[in-house]
Amino acid sequence: MIIDDIINPVNKKLFLYLSKQEKVKHFVMTNKYAKKISRRWIAGETLNDALKAAENLNLEGRLVALDHLGEDVTNAEAAKNFAAEYYKIIIGIHMNYLNSNASLKLTQMGLDIDQELCYENVAGIVRTAKIFNNFIRIDMEGSPHTQRTIDIFKRLKKDYDNVGLVVQSYLYRTEDDVNDLLKICTEFRLCKGAYKEPSNVAFPKKKDVDKSFVKLSEKMLSSGLYHGFATHDEKMINHIKEFAKAEKISPEKFEFQMLYGVKRELQQKLVDEGYNLRVYTAYGEEWYPYTMRRFAESWHNVWFVAKDII
Ligand SMILES: Cc1cc2nc3c(=O)[nH]c(=O)nc-3n(C[C@H](O)[C@H](O)[C@H](O)COP(=O)(O)OP(=O)(O)OC[C@H]3O[C@@H](n4cnc5c(N)ncnc54)[C@H](O)[C@@H]3O)c2cc1C
Repeated sequence: MIIDDIINPVNKKLFLYLSKQEKVKHFVMTNKYAKKISRRWIAGETLNDALKAAENLNLEGRLVALDHLGEDVTNAEAAKNFAAEYYKIIIGIHMNYLNSNASLKLTQMGLDIDQELCYENVAGIVRTAKIFNNFIRIDMEGSPHTQRTIDIFKRLKKDYDNVGLVVQSYLYRTEDDVNDLLKICTEFRLCKGAYKEPSNVAFPKKKDVDKSFVKLSEKMLSSGLYHGFATHDEKMINHIKEFAKAEKISPEKFEFQMLYGVKRELQQKLVDEGYNLRVYTAYGEEWYPYTMRRFAESWHNVWFVAKDII
């Protein structure tokens, strides 16, 4: 839609800017109504809320990736506590017989404090997940963290096969990263990318980001490894389906992934068609930046909330 092409880029800039503003964060997070709005994309504040949501999603035939919200952690004690929550997630998944893995952010595990501390925190989680036959996905954050995230991932991959990485089609570097990481059998989640990036590191135009997504998805599907394609974009989804059909890659060899609370009908349609569909299900008290990124992704979300307020 033409209106989307005009409003979405402005909307994106505004909400990605707000996602990093501490004063706005404080104001929003103490507002009861804002908290209620965030529940549209968040399963709740506690692990129990998330496990219950995961159980319901499983009952509808959807796989789950649980994420405990939190990022940009600046003290080692907090990073250790965030890591400890992931042990509880892994055990909670196991005890409740859920079909779910877990997803985490390295800045939550202390990446900006000390790379070694971050590595140790994540290695403990991956090791525990291995014991419980589970899988840990490392989310990809803004470009200042890309290389350090890949470095830690490569180190983990030497010892563990139950860890995967996210790559973003908006970065110029991603094609080279994918070529390099496929050599060590990396199972990717491919997404477009959700952060504010300068034009010297990321494609500024949506059509180029989409083109890159298509190219990378074909490369991944042809690799014979199991990858996740994280998008709500029906054009991308249809392309992946058609490419897989033409290359005789059966639906159980890959999965689609979407966010909790987004395009629920499309999620169910894919499940009904026999595709694997995983729902990224976030929970926790640190919902502000995550919610702002959801507003940034679609002005329809902003309009929906504005109408509700009016
Ligand atoms: C499972 C999953 C994991 C992700 N992990 C990461 C990550 O680790 N790092 C990272 O940088 N990004 C991550 N993202 C976010 C991603 O990069 C995009 O910002 C987001 O998915 C929007 O892009 P899109 O592919 O859906 O396509 P777009 O072209 O942005 O959107 C396609 C259609 O979906 C609608 N839509 C998209 N998002 C929303 C929304 N939130 N609410 C309502 N409608 C929406 C749009 O309005 C449009 O109609 C993840 C996304 C998913 C689904």
